[in-house]
Amino acid sequence: MEGVGKLGRKSDRDLLRNAPPVTMVFITPSGQLLHGKCGRVLKIHGSAANKMGRRELQSFCLACIEHVILPEDMFPRISLCEEAGDTLVAS
Ligand SMILES: [Zn+2]
Repeated sequence: MEGVGKLGRKSDRDLLRNAPPVTMVFITPSGQLLHGKCGRVLKIHGSAANKMGRRELQSFCLACIEHVILPEDMFPRISLCEEAGDTLVAS
């Protein structure tokens, strides 16, 4: 159905395509999520629906003592980084 569903409308897809890259997290080639602030591996707690019904990945950074929420719509915009132990390496 035209215009219904998340990212179903053309304007939503255009917004996603033109959105800036995500810098709060990075992903390694092996699939680990790293905190953009400190470069440490995020501990994943699971996923939940937010108030609007969209899924979010709940994670925590043990180094920053910070809760990091990642809306699933953000995933295609997460940049790949190089892997070096459990920290972020700028490429
Ligand atoms: Zn951190």
